[in-house]
Amino acid sequence: MLTRVAEAIAAARAVVAVTGAGISAESGVPTFRGAGGLWKRFRPEQLATPEAFARDPDLVWEWYRWRRAMIAAARPNAGHEMLARLEARVPRFTLLTQNVDGLHRLAGSRNVLELHGNIWRSRCSAEPDRGFDDRSSRGQAEEAASDASPAAAPRCPSCGARLRPDVVWFGEPLDTRVLEAAMAAARDADLVLVIGTSAVVYPVAALPSIARAAGARVVEVNVEDTPLTSEADFVLRGPSAIVLPALERLL
Ligand SMILES: [Zn+2]
Repeated sequence: MLTRVAEAIAAARAVVAVTGAGISAESGVPTFRGAGGLWKRFRPEQLATPEAFARDPDLVWEWYRWRRAMIAAARPNAGHEMLARLEARVPRFTLLTQNVDGLHRLAGSRNVLELHGNIWRSRCSAEPDRGFDDRSSRGQAEEAASDASPAAAPRCPSCGARLRPDVVWFGEPLDTRVLEAAMAAARDADLVLVIGTSAVVYPVAALPSIARAAGARVVEVNVEDTPLTSEADFVLRGPSAIVLPALERLL
């Protein structure tokens, strides 16, 4: 099976890799669902919503700072690193991720579409296109809120409105530009690798069938069966940090 997938990758002109919580979990990032119960008495579903932010922005920011602190300690694993190297050897390579932790870029991947945003960015709640990179600027945006308490939601240095994490919350649509680019990549693909995601959440749930309808083959890399398994042309069982480097050795 591994050899046949390696041959398919070697022959592919356009590869799309779709990643989810599984690959981050292998780097020690607590998965979103798994975080339930770890933090006070709130559930993520009650904090990662526009309504929660409107009701109590300071609380939402406290939760995101707590998540950032956990993610800050995580490093890309061998699976992330293999995907970054794969990008260099495939003519057209697109990485679609549901993860907000930024580990793919940290590993060196460049053509990355972050479907659910990035936890290290914030953006103005009043000016959608005004974004801030809080990791590289070491919290510069948050320092703009120095008149407030450190636990408060930061303010936009330009207009004074509250900043919000630049992630997609429950009940919010995906960024249209990101979604369109993801769909275009799926239609263009010869091969789709679906890694560490059960692929049940839109749009990731739709991407493999869009790619298959356009002639692509689908490879699933996961530690367990998912709703995608029966549709996949190839199924590789195991952690991505083991399976992907093993695949690379056959290329
Ligand atoms: Zn603003």
